[in-house]
Amino acid sequence: MKRKVIRGVPISPGIAIGPAFVSDTASIQIPFYNIDSNRIDAESERFHRAIDVSKQQIEEMIREMEVKLGTKDAMIFRVHMQILEDTDFRGKVEEKIREEKINVEAALREVVSWYSAQIAALQDLSARDQSADIRDVGNRVLRNLMAHEKDHVFKKKDLFILVTHELLPSDTVHLDKTKLLGIITEVGGKASHAAILARSFGIPAITGISISSLPRRMGQIVLDGRDGAVVLNPGTADLTRYEARRKEFILFKDKLTDEEDGEAVTLDGSSVELLANIENFNALHHDDFEDIRGIGLYRTEFIFMDRNSFPSEDEQYHFYRSVLEKIGPDNEVTFRVIDIGADKNLSYFKVPEETNPVLGWRGLRILFEWPDMFIAQLRALLRASAHGQVNIMLPMITELEEVRTANNYLLQIKDDLRKGGIPFSEATRMGVMVEVPAAAIDIVNIARETDFLSIGSNDLIQYLLAVDRNNAKVAEMYQPLNPSVLKVLHRVIRAAIDNGKQISMCGEMAGNFNYTQLLLGMGLRRFSMAPFYINGVRRIIRSTTIADCERIAGRALNMRTMKEIRTYLKRMNPLSPPPGGKTF
Ligand code: PEP
Ligand code: MG
Repeated sequence: MKRKVIRGVPISPGIAIGPAFVSDTASIQIPFYNIDSNRIDAESERFHRAIDVSKQQIEEMIREMEVKLGTKDAMIFRVHMQILEDTDFRGKVEEKIREEKINVEAALREVVSWYSAQIAALQDLSARDQSADIRDVGNRVLRNLMAHEKDHVFKKKDLFILVTHELLPSDTVHLDKTKLLGIITEVGGKASHAAILARSFGIPAITGISISSLPRRMGQIVLDGRDGAVVLNPGTADLTRYEARRKEFILFKDKLTDEEDGEAVTLDGSSVELLANIENFNALHHDDFEDIRGIGLYRTEFIFMDRNSFPSEDEQYHFYRSVLEKIGPDNEVTFRVIDIGADKNLSYFKVPEETNPVLGWRGLRILFEWPDMFIAQLRALLRASAHGQVNIMLPMITELEEVRTANNYLLQIKDDLRKGGIPFSEATRMGVMVEVPAAAIDIVNIARETDFLSIGSNDLIQYLLAVDRNNAKVAEMYQPLNPSVLKVLHRVIRAAIDNGKQISMCGEMAGNFNYTQLLLGMGLRRFSMAPFYINGVRRIIRSTTIADCERIAGRALNMRTMKEIRTYLKRMNPLSPPPGGKTF
């Protein structure tokens, strides 16, 4: 095979050199092998056992959902049950094992693909749901089949570069980051949750690479997360050059994180709060803890992802309490209530397939329709507040009425807890994420009726610019420095300050040190970001003055194009930029 360079969109910086590993779905690697005739019965038997286990799991989920949420919603899983009981479906898998002499996982996968293609060809919207149902059930049986075989790709022994269609947030929960050198996906945008996670793990990543354009056997490849290049079959010169660049980038990163301890205070004496964004608290390293002075965004949906059913109120309470105890009484934890939908889904709670999922049934919209889920979480958080400083944050607020509805839930639950003699902290605050343009526009009214605000720039930018944050095709158009974005950010920050409300930013912009001076100049003094970025941002804060930042923000806000603003901010950044890195 000849040397070849393919280009995609860089979403997480750094260089990776290593063997490529192509996986059909990110979380399951499906083994495919031929079997001897005398294995056919044993293979069918494995299939039956996996079906039985899957049925038991689904029955359990139906029971749980009926108790918590009513029979209507358990219907989805009844459909899954019907598929498992369908003799035609089962017969087709057995026939494949017998006639093609292949293992059950491979047979199952082919049958599921066949069914889902047949259904998808019907071309109506409800068919998409059915197609998703059959894939869902298929994946459940596959997972059960491979449960004893350390099935997950992420449990691989050797270091590898993962090549996959899409990396979903729920897949990243299973990732063994110590083995993962880099990530290449077909789909996904710069602000997709997979990109956010890759960056926070410090793993280089590229999206927008078509898997069909890659050879089946790739061996060693190079991934350049700075400009989006993938080098197939690299020669010795490539390897030497990229290895030098890889080391150079690591040096840069180390220099950034080698910052001597010090407070985040500007040269003219303004203190800035730097908080952490957390998805998986248990995965934090000892080193991470040293940087953490509180959590500004706990994406609680990740707690719900790594499971097969909803955690009970008690389970949640114990978990939130343990987070608060580890973070300590002097530090706050802002728990964002479960924000599922769009690219974040739970295996046991099905959001119907939608034409525009980012504009669809997500975040608070789901919680208001499923109050039991909302109430259990609010109760658990309030109970945990007896053991630390809890802030509760609401995602996807679009209008004031929603803030009032959520506040009423909280008041009612507080009342119930008081009556039941259950302790909680009266100081618990409830705040709002500003991530839907409508909320940013009506910010004054919203600010008046909430305890605090936090700018979710990831979603706010996608909605303001009409650029899907998960779509590789338009990834280059996802531009935080668009002049309209800056005007909206400035307006929101000023409105919060004028109304005496605490304002922070917890979207990715907050962790990008190219934007720190700009945001400080707009008046922001509270930033929340992946722990990985805290040192870099602190460095900027310690080497600038608020007077300079205000001048910089004033000039940037008057510029007319994104390009002009970007060049200007780079020039004003007191830190030298990373070696050629576009994505930092
Ligand atoms: C955001 O939208 O900016 C945000 C912080 O939340 P998430 O990335 O989880 O949507
Ligand atoms: Mg968001």
